[in-house]
Amino acid sequence: MSPSDRADGGETLGTSFGAVEPFTAEERARLTPYFTNVDQPVFALVNLPEVVKGALFARYSRSPKSLRRLFLDEFADLATAEGAPARDIGIARAERLFERVFVEYGDDSVAQLGGVHLACEGVSNVLTKLLEWGRLMAYLEQSTRYVPYADRPGGRWRYHVPAEVRATPLARDYEATLDLMFETYARWLEPMQEHFRRRHPRQATDSEAVYRSTIRAKALDTLRGLLPAATKSNVGLYGTGQAYEALLLRLRASPLAEARACADLALTELRKVIPAFLRRVDTPDRGGAWSAYLAATREATEAAAARAVGSLVPDARPEVMLTDFDPEGEVKVVAAALYAVSGLPDDQLLAHARRMSAKDREAVLAAYVGERRNRRHKPGRALERTSYRFDVLTDYGAFRDLQRHRLLSLEWQPLGPRHGYAVPDAIEESGGGADWRRVMEASAALHDALAGAGLAPVASYAVCMAYRIRFYMEMNARETMHVLELRTAPQGHPAYRRVCQAMHRLIAEEAGHRGLAAAMRFVDHSAVELERLEAERRTDARLRALSETGSADR
Ligand SMILES: Cc1cc2nc3c(=O)[nH]c(=O)nc-3n(C[C@H](O)[C@H](O)[C@H](O)COP(=O)(O)OP(=O)(O)OC[C@H]3O[C@@H](n4cnc5c(N)ncnc54)[C@H](O)[C@@H]3O)c2cc1C
Repeated sequence: MSPSDRADGGETLGTSFGAVEPFTAEERARLTPYFTNVDQPVFALVNLPEVVKGALFARYSRSPKSLRRLFLDEFADLATAEGAPARDIGIARAERLFERVFVEYGDDSVAQLGGVHLACEGVSNVLTKLLEWGRLMAYLEQSTRYVPYADRPGGRWRYHVPAEVRATPLARDYEATLDLMFETYARWLEPMQEHFRRRHPRQATDSEAVYRSTIRAKALDTLRGLLPAATKSNVGLYGTGQAYEALLLRLRASPLAEARACADLALTELRKVIPAFLRRVDTPDRGGAWSAYLAATREATEAAAARAVGSLVPDARPEVMLTDFDPEGEVKVVAAALYAVSGLPDDQLLAHARRMSAKDREAVLAAYVGERRNRRHKPGRALERTSYRFDVLTDYGAFRDLQRHRLLSLEWQPLGPRHGYAVPDAIEESGGGADWRRVMEASAALHDALAGAGLAPVASYAVCMAYRIRFYMEMNARETMHVLELRTAPQGHPAYRRVCQAMHRLIAEEAGHRGLAAAMRFVDHSAVELERLEAERRTDARLRALSETGSADR
């Protein structure tokens, strides 16, 4: 290459990160369609198949070359002559690379390098919880607050009929009972809005749109307890090949036909995008054995539990209990706060923190937490030094929402009618109590009939979201801060707001972690009547401001 070939005149580009490799004009032209820049040390990859992006990154591990150089040397020839984006560029080559580093050496880091957006539509709420189990994925799910389930696409209410039930004599009961749930829900939609309109008349300062959507959200939030866990939802997922592999292995081990069928569909679709990442999933001696291990340990543990605790009956418990915490948690957080800014060993810091006066410890914690101007200003990892374990017994609707948090441990027990159900005050006040109870009784009867017929794994599809479920949440103080501050925000659902407010009180009063509880200063204990009102007002004001400046998307 002669110096004049260089687009930058032969000078190596420099930045504060150091020299950036120069490319010729011809190389730059070939790179441009696939990299967001060709002269900076930080760039994104675009218009390339996921598997190629993954393969390129995988080469970092064993090659001294820059990524763009690797692309030119190993993949660019496979691009179309014009350099136009082409879906299949380099796939065959990338697949060969994966064959070597991933399948043969089992190098999992490679499978973390390509991602896919996957849509799963018309899946039951039971399945959404399995889809959303993994920590290292992103999810977005249809909301029961904004989407009314009062329509009947194709003449059918939006619920899932499990394959296990379809061929049994209980299929008719199942459909009749779930029809009743949806009919009751749909019938109460207008009266419930009318109830809230009477109770909360529109204020002159609120637009009709703000008022209407606030009232509708309140009615939908109140009625969601009537919907069964079989209610269909749409979920969008984004994750890496590694995360999808783990998801598919879990789904394939599930006792639910719906989960296994979803795994088959997802595998087919994911293989159209990241085939190389998912080679092991259905190989009998790899993924097959892996799923079999998951299923076998679950079954063995169920059998062990039946022997060990099968004859015990649950003692009564409050909605939220703090079942484990470290009485020394705050002292440990103080020691941890000093760690990264000192040169002292971990145990020496802890011993010192124990000797410090309470006032001095407070000063360290105050410096570490700083002045938080909003809930997104979060202190660092020292807060991960102590954890809380909560046992929660609350309605399934609230559980669904809290289960979405990923940086914690959360497990739940089978959903059934044995812990009773919640009845929102507004239901009784508006005269809906009898209908509510009729639906709950029908739900319990169907659940018990299914369980009695040997269909226990699918019995929870029939259970309404107002029924209580027991689950634990174990989380460090940093995640606790995030969860409690988000989930007590005034626009949150009253059920999980109540649960999270109780958690906050327990941290302060039972754990005695008053300093940490105070650091969670955006936990909101106020009573709110119309959860969405302030948020709708803010959105309305923003839209008005935008439309006045001409930039609103009308
Ligand atoms: C009022 C309200 C309405 C909502 N409506 C909807 C809705 O309609 N649909 C819906 O799907 N959800 C809805 N949610 C749920 C919400 O948007 C989040 O998905 C949920 O709270 C869990 O995710 P998180 O990031 O908040 O917290 P966590 O999963 O607990 O994570 C805590 C933090 O860790 C980091 N983190 C965790 N995992 C990752 C990861 N994989 N990658 C990068 N960073 C990560 C992030 O900083 C995150 O904020 C609603 C929540 C509220 C409060």
